[in-house]
This record gives sequence, structure tokens and C-alpha cells, in this order.
Amino acid sequence: MHYASTRGHAASQSFSEILLGGLAPDGGLYLPASYPQVSAAELNAWRELSYAELAFEVLRKFATDIPEADLRAMTAKTYTAEVYRNAREGEDAGQITPLRVLQEDGAGRKLILQALSNGPTLAFKDMAMQLLGNLFEYALEKNQAELNIFGATSGDTGSAAEYAMRGKRGIRVFMLSPHQKMSAFQTAQMFSLQDPNIFNIAVEGVFDDCQDLVKAVSNDLAFKQQQRIGTVNSINWARVVAQVVYYFRGYLSATTSNEQQVSFTVPSGNFGNICAGHIARMMGLPIAQLVVATNENDVLDEFFRTGVYRVRASAETWHTTSPSMDISKASNFERFIYDLLDGDAARVKQLFAQVESKGGFDLSGAPGSDGDEFHKVEQFGFVSGKSVHADRIQTIRQVREQYGLTVDTHTADGIKVAREHWQPGVPMIVLETALPAKFNETIREALGEDAQRPAGFERIEELPQRFVVMQPQVEAMKAYIAQHTGL
Ligand SMILES: *Cc1c(COP(=O)(O)O)cnc(C)c1O
Repeated sequence: MHYASTRGHAASQSFSEILLGGLAPDGGLYLPASYPQVSAAELNAWRELSYAELAFEVLRKFATDIPEADLRAMTAKTYTAEVYRNAREGEDAGQITPLRVLQEDGAGRKLILQALSNGPTLAFKDMAMQLLGNLFEYALEKNQAELNIFGATSGDTGSAAEYAMRGKRGIRVFMLSPHQKMSAFQTAQMFSLQDPNIFNIAVEGVFDDCQDLVKAVSNDLAFKQQQRIGTVNSINWARVVAQVVYYFRGYLSATTSNEQQVSFTVPSGNFGNICAGHIARMMGLPIAQLVVATNENDVLDEFFRTGVYRVRASAETWHTTSPSMDISKASNFERFIYDLLDGDAARVKQLFAQVESKGGFDLSGAPGSDGDEFHKVEQFGFVSGKSVHADRIQTIRQVREQYGLTVDTHTADGIKVAREHWQPGVPMIVLETALPAKFNETIREALGEDAQRPAGFERIEELPQRFVVMQPQVEAMKAYIAQHTGL
């Protein structure tokens, strides 16, 4: 299996070659030369598999240059009941992503929740990041290499990366976060890590200052190379592939025969999660609809309603109570546009250059637009919807009253939008992207009580914290990194 850039850069690369990298040299994203197909017989055989075995079967189709025994060992080590131990009462942790039927009505409509947030940091990012930690360690050991991950976080990604990379040989993590701007829970989760390869840097500033620092340091190519700096952001191909697995798992658990279809609703921000659903569908998984749910930051909802992709300026990016979906530009969206344009890399390149120069593109087919491919979106099963703060609060209350369950704010956005699209005879699976304990302030607002914390998290705020506070100064940051890598 070889990979090429969505913008046409020709040199094809293997899975291992793109594993540690980010963007392709031409600024595009990597995609496989073609999507591997899953036959009906194969899909049936997969019904019996454990999550780890299923992950191996899906991954081996993409990571063809990793010896199968090694890959099998890595998926077996990653997808265990110990790692995904934060299952709720009534859920089987051994299933890794257990399903729970919320509602079945007289009209044959069925609403199902798939728990993706039972990993160490209580958000779905653990599903891919835990595997990435093991893949990175494996690849670095093979090449006798070192990697220093440098990133910025406002919450979920940074903690998922740290919990995946802690204690791993050859890897250090330098994670910037805005000083005293994360919730007490998120801060405690990250800063209580005592592993010597984890460096938490609290920056005197806001999240944008952190991101600017990462960009400034990464733009110094000599420094980046000398310090072996890499990233783990959501465009990483291995992360996307690891997420493909749970779409298969969800489908297989919700159906008994391949004649059946299901739909998925996905609380979305950077389009990484639902991009994996799109890939599963392209591999032949019988998915009827892929429902994109956004919050007030509705860049994606706008595109899937109108064909117009218009990225937002920071002044137009709202701080919401589902903060992990507060994005102005969806970093994985280019992968879908490439498929929508039938692999026309020259046009992808031109449209995404236009995103930088003019703030977007228009595929609605209207006079003066950039194309008319919006009419093809339907063939890919995509539809969308939007949920705002008042919807979130109402949905959290309703879900609690109707189903006796507390869901987090992002998942509430998903449930609200799912109910606008569910169809008789097609189970609708909503992906649960975080546990409510992570976003307790809004749970209190909705329910007047605290969200339940999984065992082991009860007194996390009281643990000793390990972090440094720094000014947003590029040179000081570089000096700090160099001092701690010794490179
Ligand atoms: C990251 C995240 C999302 C958005 O996922 P994307 O892959 O960026 O679309 C949604 N919910 C939660 C809780 C997240 O952490």
C-alpha cells in the first residue's frame, strides 16, 4: 500500500514512512493510492473478532510494510480492558467501544450510543493515540531514532498524547497549554503526570499564543531537524486509520447480517473522526448516512448544507461549552474534498490555495462558483446539522430523563443532530466522544449536580503537579527544548 499527497506530490511512500511525518512536502495530506476493499465474506468473518483482532485486520490492509506479527502484537497491547477501563456501569470494558441502545420507537427508529471515551483521558482521542504511542515506539526502536513531540493544546489532544507517550522509549513530549485557562480537571490530568519524558509548559497567554509558538519553532527547519521535532495532530494518517476500526466495530455490533445498513452521527471539529467513517464507507462498510454534527462553529454544517466552504477568522470562532469542536478550519477536510473531486489533485491544490488567499471556496454550482460537485455529496452519504448551547443543555436533560444516562456536551450535540436525521429501519449510532466528568461545569448547569467520575479520578486535583510556567518567547522555548533533549 502506497500513499500520495492530496495535492499531487508524486513520490509515493509507505505507511511507515508517513507515520512520523505530518503534511506532505507540497502541503497536502496523505491518502492511500486506493482504498482497500472488504468483501462480504470477510465482513462476516469479522463479526466474531475481539476489538484488538478487528483492529489488526483493518490495519494490515493499510500498514502493509509492518510485519504482521508485530502489528498483531501492537493492537493486542493497545486495545485491552485495562487501557479502556473507564467503562460505565452496565458496559463491558472488554468490548473497548461498547454499544448502548438508547431508544427504539414504534416507527422502527433506533438510537444507539457507541462509547469511545473509556480510555485513560476520557475522550475518543485515546482510541487512536494509544495505538500511535505503540507504533511510534516500535518505529523509533527499529531505526534507533528519537522523537520529540512538540504541540499546543487547549485540553483533549494534549492529554491524550501525553498518556499515550508516557514512559515510551525514544520519545519526549513538550506540550504547551495556556496558563490557568484549562479546567481544573484537565489541568490535573496533564500536570499530575510525573514521567520524566513528559514536559508540561504552561504559557502566560491564551491558546493562540501557544499555537503561534509551535508554528514559530516549527518554521525554524534547522532547529526542527536538529531537535528531531514532530507532531501528533489530527492529520496524522495512522490516527485516521485507527479510527476506521470503531466504525466497523459499531456496524458489526449493531447488525446481524451484511444486508443491513446503519448510520453514524459524529460530533465534529477537525473532521478527523468522521473522515475515518468516510474511509470505512469507501472500503465497503454498509453505512447509509454519515451525519456531521457541529456546534456554534458551523463551518462544516454550512458546507454540507450549501456547498460553500468558508473558514472563519479567530474573531469569528466562538468559545463554546463543547470546546473540542471550536474550530475555524477543518484540518482533515481536504481528504474528503479530494475524493469528492475524484482525485483531481490539481484542483484540490488550487482550492486549498484559495482557502489561504480568499478564505474558502464554493462548489455549489451557482454562477461564478468554483465547481458544482456539491450535488455529488449525497453519493457519499454526508448530511449535517448544528447544535448550540441551549440545545446542549436541553439534550443533556432529556437524555438523563429519558434514558437515565448523563452524556457530555459534545455527545449531546451529536444526539441532538442525530434525532433530526434518523430513519426507520436504519439504526443510528451516535459516537460518544467524551465522558461528562471532563466537562463538569456544563453538566452542573444542565442537571444541577456533578457528573460521576470514573474510579481513580476522584481526587485528581489534589495530586502533585509537575509543570513550568513560561513567557510566550520563541527563543526561550527553543532553549528549554534543547536543554531537555540534550541534542
Ligand atoms: C477532538 C474532539 C472532537 C472533534 O473531533 P474531530 O476529529 O476534530 O472532528 C469532538 N469531541 C471531543 C470530545 C473531542 O475531543
